[in-house]
Amino acid sequence: MNHNLLEVKNLKTYFFTRNGVVQAVDGVNLALRKGENLCLVGESGCGKTATALSILRLIDSPPGKILGGEILFHDEDLLRCPEERLRQIRGREIAMIFQDPQSSLNPVFTVGDQIAEPLKLHLKLNSKEALERARELMEQVGIPQADERMKDYPHQFSGGMKQRVMIAAALSCDPEILIADEPTTALDTTIKAQILDIFHDLKQARNMSILFITHDMGTVAGIADRIVVMYGGKIAEVGTTFDIFDQPAHPYTQGLLTCLPNISAQQQRLTPIPGTIPSLIDPPSGCIFHPRCPKRMPICDQEDPPEVFISDEHRVVCQLYKQPVTSPGKTGDTHSAQ
Ligand code: SF4
Repeated sequence: MNHNLLEVKNLKTYFFTRNGVVQAVDGVNLALRKGENLCLVGESGCGKTATALSILRLIDSPPGKILGGEILFHDEDLLRCPEERLRQIRGREIAMIFQDPQSSLNPVFTVGDQIAEPLKLHLKLNSKEALERARELMEQVGIPQADERMKDYPHQFSGGMKQRVMIAAALSCDPEILIADEPTTALDTTIKAQILDIFHDLKQARNMSILFITHDMGTVAGIADRIVVMYGGKIAEVGTTFDIFDQPAHPYTQGLLTCLPNISAQQQRLTPIPGTIPSLIDPPSGCIFHPRCPKRMPICDQEDPPEVFISDEHRVVCQLYKQPVTSPGKTGDTHSAQ
């Protein structure tokens, strides 16, 4: 039985710039299951946000263009459905929270009105009902004195409180899927922990599916059910949180983990991944990670690496796993990373 709520298949999103064609998302396959928290991780510029924006067809065109693939939501292809249908889905069935709440909130409307707006639009509530629901939502995301604060404007809120407002607005229509694009990046550590607690509670209380995008492996460890690691517009590895943190297979994932501080190991220094992310206008041949890979082999710059199934849940795109290995599980089979 297919429990996937959302399936992204062979998605290609390119940006046509004066300097050349940026292959921001190049053949991405992933799936979001009912009630799970799927984290999409990777360095800045690896295609995470472009993937998320493509799901709701929010890529600015020009310069961006979705060139191919499928995005199946309840078996409906979002890349091919009419714009009017997509407007019904956005906010009502799939909601998105952006990195910078300041630029996402309208400075000339009160936050109460902004949370109430999708309730009027999608659920056809009248103003009184919508504002009452907005007040309840503000309380649920931990905004004190919601009665008073809903009459305030965005500039009267701190960064953390603005992000709570964005979460309340995104939750207003009780969407099945919440896409959160780096929602804690602009926040300090204590506020970040509070916002992550809200995401944790949401998943428990609403059985919501969350696609959480971040470059921060430390954040991922606390909230993910499964993790998709992206590099250079492509999927590098997919697995459960245990797979990725305890048995990372891709050299890039291994590199990301060595960048994390480990107090218990009394680590003296962090080990960064050498080099920088490649140009996606003229990406390296073969495996796009090969210029930075400590385990590269002669074949790595010649051929695209295969996608290999290490276990039922754990997949990696790398030449190291081309040959069957004895454990664990099914290495040697190739499957699409879902
Ligand atoms: Fe490294 Fe080669 Fe695997 Fe790429 S395919 S990650 S270069 S070992």
